Amino acid sequence: MAAPASLASCIESINPATGEVIARFETTPPAEIPRILARARRAQADWASQPLRTRCALVRRLGQAIYARRQELADLVTRESGKPRVEAVFSDILVSLDTANYYAEHAPLLLQPERVPHHNPAVKAKAGWLHYEPYGVIADISPWNYPLAIPLGQIIPAVVAGNAVVLKPSELTPWCGAMVGELFARAGFPPDVVQVIQGGGELGAALVERGPDKVVFTGSVATGKRVAESCARRLTPCVLELGGKDAMIVLADADLEVASSAAVWGSFTNCGQACLSVERIYVEASIADRFSERCAAKTQLLKLGPGSDPHTEVGPMIRARQVDRVDEQLREAVARGARILTGGRRRPDLGPCFFEPTVVADVDHSMRMMQEETFGPILALRSVEDAEEAVSMANDSAFGLAASIWTGDSRRGRRLATQIRAGAVMVNDVASYFGIAEAPHGGRGASGWGRTHSRLGLLELVQVKYVDVDRLPRWPKSWWYGYNEELGVAADRFLEFLFAPEWRHRWRSARGAMRAVFRGHRI
Ligand code: NAD
Repeated sequence: MAAPASLASCIESINPATGEVIARFETTPPAEIPRILARARRAQADWASQPLRTRCALVRRLGQAIYARRQELADLVTRESGKPRVEAVFSDILVSLDTANYYAEHAPLLLQPERVPHHNPAVKAKAGWLHYEPYGVIADISPWNYPLAIPLGQIIPAVVAGNAVVLKPSELTPWCGAMVGELFARAGFPPDVVQVIQGGGELGAALVERGPDKVVFTGSVATGKRVAESCARRLTPCVLELGGKDAMIVLADADLEVASSAAVWGSFTNCGQACLSVERIYVEASIADRFSERCAAKTQLLKLGPGSDPHTEVGPMIRARQVDRVDEQLREAVARGARILTGGRRRPDLGPCFFEPTVVADVDHSMRMMQEETFGPILALRSVEDAEEAVSMANDSAFGLAASIWTGDSRRGRRLATQIRAGAVMVNDVASYFGIAEAPHGGRGASGWGRTHSRLGLLELVQVKYVDVDRLPRWPKSWWYGYNEELGVAADRFLEFLFAPEWRHRWRSARGAMRAVFRGHRI
């Protein structure tokens, strides 16, 4: 798997639990990208000409290949990204398998040409259709935190729709990236329909610069802005799945036992390094103390350790520099009056990237911890007077990826959901919508634009073509040449016939309007 290559041209796959280099992968020289894109274009032309059912059948085979190798894949994700193995199974493997199933099964219906009914009687003689056509070559640039679920969740619909894909996985998880390429090859996809290139940010930038037909980018806000600028220079369309600062609102009528378990899991799953991590918790004042106590007590029960240990619940962070960032945010919050209820320390005794799951109360919006994405194992609590204040706090953020509302009254939860500025709101659950194939994923504001997953994610990967078939091909149109005063009057009657506020005016103008339709054409 790992390429034997000179160290200078390699990226290293590092196990974050130990800091050990576990493999090396040859980097792709940016100068190679034009040739890679040219190969992708040739492959795409053949691929798109295959019947959709053939493409779906291959995606089904891909699903079977993932299923057959699920143990090996889960081990790999844990080794390279650090997450507990159970989380690799529930997130990366499950989402990948379900994405393959969903699109293999539903794409024929979702991509079939769609009739467009016309409301205007003047164009009833025309039959309209929407046709969905592939873009061509999609550049998929991926982060490290869900190194199989994210690229596969985007590449599968792209190829189903008839595109070719060039994947640039994160330089922190090159082995998982290489595995994506291998899975497509093993499933029998034609060469170059899915190609994987290996390297860091400069390679991602070079890929975007070379003008793929669309870019699907998932990563940080800072990188997303660079990608958007580069795409704008070429008018390359892009989807941007960026960071989050998801709020959790806990109302007084919520089940505190369940909500506190959700807060703990939502804050610490993948060591808090999920775009959908619970990053801010707003609790109604009347239950705030009881809720915080439960969160702290449950956090103390969590087992911190390497993801490969089946008992581990919280693994390491991805790199030591990420630990520094979280530590800095925490110190700043404490200096401004936040209280650590449990945790708060680095754990070098366990490895270079361990930080204790930490519960912190009394945070406020002047703190970086409540403004910037934390992306680490911090559960941050703030008490609020009522639901109204909670919603206003939740909306006081540049981000708008997702949020959750916890209440015993699900109707009220749904009502409040409409007031929250986010791409998704869950009532009485956190984050799990990412695993629902039919649920669109994507953000507002600094969290990006466009959608992945679901029918909407598939439609991001096709160009819509409107096809119009005239049912009266021998009939010259009333608006064509041969203009004169009579036509001017008939045109006005025509507008009256269609749009006059009173029906009697419409009927009165019908005959005059018909003069526009039934007229001789001089030209
Ligand atoms: P990152 O922005 O550092 O890197 C993401 C990818 O972009 C990597 O492959 C990287 O090599 C590449 N890249 C870097 N510079 C580039 C450039 N100038 N042009 C093109 N590509 C470039 O992000 P990360 O640390 O890998 O991932 C963590 C971030 O991703 C967090 O902010 C997290 O919230 C976000 N994320 C968002 C979602 C979502 O669906 N919204 C999902 C997962 C992660």
